[in-house]
Amino acid sequence: MPTYRIAIVGAGPAGYFSAQALQNSQDEERTFAIDLFERLPTPWGLVRSGVAPDHPKIKTVAKVFEKIAVDPYFRLFGNVELGRDISIEQLKENYDAVILATGSSVGRKLGIPGEELAGSLSAADFVPWYNGHPDYVNVAVPLNGKNAIVIGAGNVAMDCGRMLALDPAELDTTDTADHALAALHQSSIRNVTIVGRRGPEHAAFTSPEIRELPNLENTDVIISNSEIEAAKIRVAGELEEKKELRNNLEALLEVSQSESKNNERKLAINFLLTPVEIIGNEKVEAIRFARNKVINDRVFATTEIIEMPCNLVISAIGYQVLPIPGIEMANGKVVNENGFVSDNLYVVGWAKRGPSGVIGTNKSDSSEVIKMLIDKLPIAAKENSDISKIFTNHQVITQSGWRKINKAEVEQGEPVGKPRRKVTSWKDLLSLGQE
Ligand code: NAP
Repeated sequence: MPTYRIAIVGAGPAGYFSAQALQNSQDEERTFAIDLFERLPTPWGLVRSGVAPDHPKIKTVAKVFEKIAVDPYFRLFGNVELGRDISIEQLKENYDAVILATGSSVGRKLGIPGEELAGSLSAADFVPWYNGHPDYVNVAVPLNGKNAIVIGAGNVAMDCGRMLALDPAELDTTDTADHALAALHQSSIRNVTIVGRRGPEHAAFTSPEIRELPNLENTDVIISNSEIEAAKIRVAGELEEKKELRNNLEALLEVSQSESKNNERKLAINFLLTPVEIIGNEKVEAIRFARNKVINDRVFATTEIIEMPCNLVISAIGYQVLPIPGIEMANGKVVNENGFVSDNLYVVGWAKRGPSGVIGTNKSDSSEVIKMLIDKLPIAAKENSDISKIFTNHQVITQSGWRKINKAEVEQGEPVGKPRRKVTSWKDLLSLGQE
């Protein structure tokens, strides 16, 4: 019975779910030995660096990842970067199949004047900053003004808006990185406005994320009731058959009807405004929007321009893949056909389909790709030497090294009522994860 050696690059949800699908496909005909490569000293991808700290339930999926990692034929190679420490050619040569699960970590650009001003940043920098990603600890997030604008009407914009608008005391018992929590406690921001360029009927938020907004104890959430009613009228004919749209508009309507709690902290959601220019002398001072209108489900600009004073602009308008040496990219993704790239190379997750879907989406997506991969496997497995000898002079964080980091973080969190206190420096992570 052949044991196929499979390399997965990227220890986020798509990588782990691919490993799980492989493990679940083992039978009397074949088994799999899985090596999971990760650039960071820590695994879990967006579950560690993306999911908002005030959403701890979403992070419980990490238990599934750790169960996958218990298998004796599973190995973690943390602190190994594709293209720097190992090449795609080496992987393709040494493994029966290689799966790219590298996600999309580069924030899309607005492409408007003023975007490069200090105080204008991408969610791709802000989110890993508050989540303690070691490469983002020093991102400058000016929180000394009163007004912040978040561009985009998706769940990442919602996370960013909530993190800026909530009372930081609500984060004290979360795994928000220490540096970010301290900065948020000092923050002067009181008015946060999330801005969508199309109507409420086009928003990419999901309804649970909208419905939880009134739970923010010390923040008033402001959505224009007439704007939601107008959207409902525009899509009245579609509401019965489009459940998600109906749920979203109902959720937005409910929030728009909630009574003001007279909190100083405000989180507003505005629609039909396209950002056209960020204004400021060296740093952000205001942002200009063109007002839009919807006609027959299409969005048109009006001649009206509005200006909102602000000191921080966060654009949460989607992501694209970071180029990988030797891999062809197009439209922000790895060029692929249903996950097949070429030869014995496959791609899963956001790198495959673009930045869409929740964590669970990666489970079905990875399963489909693994089915195809298994169908394409040759009858005999490759006979190759163990890849780990490549790393004799390079520190690899193995599963047991990661367990040490994990244990240390959890132990640090316990006395202060947090699920963990994240270690955020490369040096400390590498030292903690030593064998
Ligand atoms: P998204 O859901 O695709 O939303 C992107 C938003 O950016 C859209 O509203 C889009 O508007 C807007 N946008 C794009 N280009 C723009 C521009 N040039 N100017 C102004 N607005 C622009 O992406 P995301 O928020 O990054 O989320 C990625 C995925 O992760 C989603 O599937 C999301 O549900 C998921 N996620 C889930 C959770 C959760 O479950 N709690 C949390 C975070 C993320 P248009 O529609 O007009 O293009």
